[in-house]
Amino acid sequence: MGGNTFQYFSRNPQGGKAREWDQKDFDEYLKYAKENGIEVILTHAPYTLNCASAKDEVREFALMCMEDDIKKLENFDNALYNFHPGSHTGIGVDKGIEYIIEILNKIIYPKMKTTILLETMSGKGSEIGRSFEELKRIIDGVKYNDKIGVCLDTCHVFSAGYDIVNNLDSVLDEFDRIIGLDRLKAIHLNDSMMPFNSNKDRHEKIGEGTIGLLAIVNIINNKRLKDLSFYLETPNDIDGYIKEIALLKEKRIWD
Ligand code: FE
Ligand code: FE
Ligand code: ZN
Repeated sequence: MGGNTFQYFSRNPQGGKAREWDQKDFDEYLKYAKENGIEVILTHAPYTLNCASAKDEVREFALMCMEDDIKKLENFDNALYNFHPGSHTGIGVDKGIEYIIEILNKIIYPKMKTTILLETMSGKGSEIGRSFEELKRIIDGVKYNDKIGVCLDTCHVFSAGYDIVNNLDSVLDEFDRIIGLDRLKAIHLNDSMMPFNSNKDRHEKIGEGTIGLLAIVNIINNKRLKDLSFYLETPNDIDGYIKEIALLKEKRIWD
């Protein structure tokens, strides 16, 4: 498709079932990545995980999936593992954050090589992670938080009320002040079907939504973001992705 990175799901995104570890498959991937200049890739945890749920069995399932995923990802030297912090489903943000921290503290150990990324969320329903402050509270609660980073989803932050269209630099200043830009490890590059500050999570094709091509181009060319990897989560078929990647490469001012 013309990319030099990719994102994939660690297991069925709507369920939780995973393939068994396949060493041959993994070795072939490493060879392919080397030959094709792929360095960083991003693993996405399933959507069904909810570390902030009021239900014990839901949190236990999340813990089990994440532990199993990370065990596999430790085969890489520098894996990035992105997950949605969770929805508190009525028990409140404070309790939800407490549960998320509890799980991360069970999973993370000092020698872990994988970096776990908290995704910035749109704030639909009782979603946690709609603000930089909420993500910061999670980070602060984790003992070995040098293993925690953030993945910024452009559709989500725009929906959550961060005006990356008109004030990208002040949004990045705010991110830096609250979380620290050194924690920012990946960008989900999406346009949005929904208006600014709507707290709705509907991705749109690049240039066809409320964020628009000009703002997206500013994002990929921003000095503070240019060295990150960008991942498309736009509603496309293969052909659509080929076109978007080509368009973004054309608009990119850096090598
Ligand atoms: Fe996501
Ligand atoms: Fe995303
Ligand atoms: Zn989304």
